[in-house]
Amino acid sequence: MKQLQRGMRIVVASHNPGKVWEINQLIAPYGLDAVSAGELGLAEPEETEPTFEGNARLKAVAAAKGSGLPALADDSGLEVQCLRGAPGIYSARWAGPGKDFGLAMKRVADEITARSAWTGFGSAAKGPRANFTSVLCLAWPDGETRLFTGHVFGCLVWPPRGGNGFGYDPMFVADGEEKTFGEMEPKEKYAISHRTRAFAKFKSECLEHVGEAEYPFASGRDLTALSAAAANLSTKEELFRFLSSLREDFAHNKDTWATADLGVYLTAVQGYFKDTHIKDEEPRWRTIAKALLAASVKDKS
Ligand code: IMP
Repeated sequence: MKQLQRGMRIVVASHNPGKVWEINQLIAPYGLDAVSAGELGLAEPEETEPTFEGNARLKAVAAAKGSGLPALADDSGLEVQCLRGAPGIYSARWAGPGKDFGLAMKRVADEITARSAWTGFGSAAKGPRANFTSVLCLAWPDGETRLFTGHVFGCLVWPPRGGNGFGYDPMFVADGEEKTFGEMEPKEKYAISHRTRAFAKFKSECLEHVGEAEYPFASGRDLTALSAAAANLSTKEELFRFLSSLREDFAHNKDTWATADLGVYLTAVQGYFKDTHIKDEEPRWRTIAKALLAASVKDKS
């Protein structure tokens, strides 16, 4: 299996500058450089496959073969359980040529209404089950490919709420959250999104062996990022990654922690569970992360 190496150029199989920027943020610390398919004058292939995986692969392989460089492509969308996974790979297409996501969300809501599927969830605030899926594909010029999939599960609400994000964000509430993706700050959504989860898998399988050129916390403690990650994590894997970040933070910023003494630190962790009103519906992994972070933070008083 081929590996990415420091100094390599990667083609991002997209003509969307936002996606290229996002991927550059991710790979730049590893000494890699992203260039878009658009910049290289490569044509965008038609998405003819019936799955996210198929379409991501089709786009990545076309860009890798057309450029002679490794290429990264993604395909994503919203899947609604009671609509048998629709709009799925057609998520962008449901918005029509004008890319009107108000219209696309209304269509989702109408299809759910037509199946009388808005009720029966025990709480008026919760609606039908849905998830976002993101599939990333890394392809090599010889046709070798690897896929990385991320999901975020939750439910739909109607009417839509919030003006942040894009696409179907205003009608989706992730499990364990109250706000829709449209009501969340970008950082909050980014901490738990399907795309972040797919990227995290790509990063751990394809980038970590390359070694980061610059440590992200080198310029001091990034408490905002650590807090956002702790406040939004939902799974064991996310707690695992959070612990890596916390450990690295300790290695680089020990003197800005409340204590470097293990006994004192453990007492502070214990204190968190004694004093904090922990919400019953909050995922347990998140509570553990919050306690470990809180115990490391110096009291401002
Ligand atoms: P594509 O992956 O660029 O083909 O687009 C997938 C479509 O899925 C987008 O146009 C959105 O409609 C929808 N989608 C994918 N990810 C998200 C998300 O994070 N929030 C809201 N909608 C999304």
